[in-house]
Amino acid sequence: MRYRLHQIQLPLDYLESDLPQAVALKLGCPLKAITGLKPRTRSLDARAANQAPRFVFSVDLNLEKKWLPLANQALLEPLDPHKSKPIIIPQITTKRSRSRPVVVGAGPAGLMAAFALAKAGLKPLLIERGAAVDERKTKVRDFWSNGVLDEETNTLYGEGGAGLYSDGKLTSRSKDSPRLLYFLETLVQCGAPKEILIDHNPHLGSDQLALIVPRLRDFIIEMGGEVRFLSRLDKLTAHQGKLTSLTIQGEVIPTEACVLATGHSARDVYRMLAHSPVALEPKSFAIGARLELPQEVINHAQFKKWAGHPALGVASFRLTRKEEMGFRACYSFCMCPGGKVIACASSKNKLTTNGMSLSKRDLAWGNAAFIVPLRPSDIPPTNDGEPAILDAIKFQENIEAKAFVFGGGNYSLPASRLSDFLSQQRPKDLPQHRSAPRAVPADLWQILPASLCETLRHALPEMLQKLPGCSFSDILLYAAETRSSSPIRVTRGDDGQSTTVQGLFPCGEGAGYAGGIVSAGIDGLRAAQWVIQTYL
Ligand SMILES: Cc1cc2nc3c(=O)[nH]c(=O)nc-3n(C[C@H](O)[C@H](O)[C@H](O)COP(=O)(O)OP(=O)(O)OC[C@H]3O[C@@H](n4cnc5c(N)ncnc54)[C@H](O)[C@@H]3O)c2cc1C
Repeated sequence: MRYRLHQIQLPLDYLESDLPQAVALKLGCPLKAITGLKPRTRSLDARAANQAPRFVFSVDLNLEKKWLPLANQALLEPLDPHKSKPIIIPQITTKRSRSRPVVVGAGPAGLMAAFALAKAGLKPLLIERGAAVDERKTKVRDFWSNGVLDEETNTLYGEGGAGLYSDGKLTSRSKDSPRLLYFLETLVQCGAPKEILIDHNPHLGSDQLALIVPRLRDFIIEMGGEVRFLSRLDKLTAHQGKLTSLTIQGEVIPTEACVLATGHSARDVYRMLAHSPVALEPKSFAIGARLELPQEVINHAQFKKWAGHPALGVASFRLTRKEEMGFRACYSFCMCPGGKVIACASSKNKLTTNGMSLSKRDLAWGNAAFIVPLRPSDIPPTNDGEPAILDAIKFQENIEAKAFVFGGGNYSLPASRLSDFLSQQRPKDLPQHRSAPRAVPADLWQILPASLCETLRHALPEMLQKLPGCSFSDILLYAAETRSSSPIRVTRGDDGQSTTVQGLFPCGEGAGYAGGIVSAGIDGLRAAQWVIQTYL
């Protein structure tokens, strides 16, 4: 019989051979009783103030009936063999005369959808407006070094999607979801380290992602799929509520099944959808600024005197503050330990910020967005004759346009020492030592809405009490963090299709069903499974 056992603790400098011993000790069984031992999760517990941090494992193991009387059975959780297996993609063998499915967008959602569709034998066409990874890297370097923006290939558009220039965290709620396992195992098949299958907070880094994503593309092609870069979807055509074709830069491609995975930076896609029969709905989103402080401070706050231990790596944090009378809630988001703050843009004269890291996470700073949630009712109506659903996008664009101007008009990031922000003073200078060299002193109160600045001013000093040891004049705030989530959801039914256009499968972050690399990848798989159902 197979069981799961939780809470096996090992010291920081454990050896692999220590795990079976620790399991046997915890269960009260002889070592030989335990077979088929497989670690399921590994997390770090650094909560105790006076105790060294420890690794905590859960494992799966076989234990024969004869050993049960010896074992502490209360600790053993009988394992459902179906629960912890990845999904199985069925092979489509019927020869019904249907057009091949098209996937739009090669971010985590689109790539995983195309991978699963190719695996099913459906020979999908994957189209992506931006360039493949290698060309994209060159364009992004030019943007960061010289402020030269390509509106089709940039930090947000191109193979790998928005997540390519990211921290590459693969955080998710459960290790038991069959789709999550499929997603992580696919990444391992493409070269990701095996540890991502068990680590509680796995991390890849932008450098590893840039190797993994092209391998994923190669698999899609090897399995019969086609991938076209520099190909932008401009129009969807439907007839009597059914999708009939897509227009890709002038070329009309007939199709009855399209996975729309264009991410939430593609505002032209939202504009196109808002003028089409595709149903959309407003959703909450969040806006704020990115805060940077020395990584050393974060390490000491979390790991105390054990900071610097080679097994610990770099520490991260998650801070939240509830809504209070006169102030909105505020929370930290997308923390990048040992990383840098980056400028991002996908359209001219609009600037947003984000964080990224390499696999080593060895830079001297940690950064995180500190964002404030906004409800659809918080967004001022424009009453400009365009569909009102687009108002939230204009609200974001307005902030990004100010960030561009206050950054000096060349895609340098506007930034302020936290001390200047709190006292509402125009900053005179920035610390020399910072992760983003192309940053200029700017008054963030001129960029972000006043109510949002008031919330940040109120919340940040309290929240930062958890990270003591750094003067507010050495902490930097960069503006503006506008793209943490989509303000629009593309409404879909229980069959994964748009409620108004059959054959359109909206998915991923842009459609409002994901927030992060893992959830976007999982949603891409889910969309592929829905598409496959229609071909069975
Ligand atoms: C800088 C940054 C750092 C991040 N860090 C992390 C992190 O560490 N961990 C994490 O989990 N998440 C992170 N995220 C969020 C994560 O990247 C997104 O949640 C995820 O990429 C969403 O995946 P997606 O496939 O839905 O959309 P996207 O990744 O946005 O991909 C959409 C793709 O569609 C393409 N596209 C758009 N319009 C068209 C069109 N008309 N025609 C053809 N193609 C089109 C785009 O070029 C893009 O490649 C980060 C995001 C950013 C921007």
